[in-house]
Amino acid sequence: MSKKININLVKQNKFYTTQMLRKELGVHIRSIQSWVKQGMKVASNERPRLFWGQDVKNFLKEKQQSRKILLAAHEFYCLHCRKAVSSVNNKVFVSETGKIVGDDIPEIQIMGICDQCGSWVYRISNLKRFSEYSSVFQIENAEEFEKILTKFKAVKKGLSKYNYNLSQCDRKAEENEKI
Ligand SMILES: [Zn+2]
Repeated sequence: MSKKININLVKQNKFYTTQMLRKELGVHIRSIQSWVKQGMKVASNERPRLFWGQDVKNFLKEKQQSRKILLAAHEFYCLHCRKAVSSVNNKVFVSETGKIVGDDIPEIQIMGICDQCGSWVYRISNLKRFSEYSSVFQIENAEEFEKILTKFKAVKKGLSKYNYNLSQCDRKAEENEKI
């Protein structure tokens, strides 16, 4: 949730479908799907899926507050535990959000499993920051992550100023060429 969402646009005593929420809040449908994964209550799972306005408001309020909490490199804010937590064994999945931030740096989503309650936990970072602290994480989808790095490397020349840890990526590319 990089842009500020106006929670007041959601009425507390009203049911919303995914499409209604999408239009009302001006967000992508995938954002709403990921909110559900992150713990937003679903009022009815029949089609179309319904959300109760008050639940949506509560969830988004909590989510916005969580952004104000400073997290250590390896931490996530768990919306269920309402505090900073670690991912189980520091295992994470990394994916691109599709956004580019700053100086052509891909934004990435880091997803883990709360070591307190087992819920999915997420945080947004970017490739530059992530490479600075990736040593604390065990990346479960390492192949996917290497693809992100490889693609990024192809797009961006003169990477040295960022000091990306590409050695692993290079090795993999070499291995692939031999096959
Ligand atoms: Zn938790």
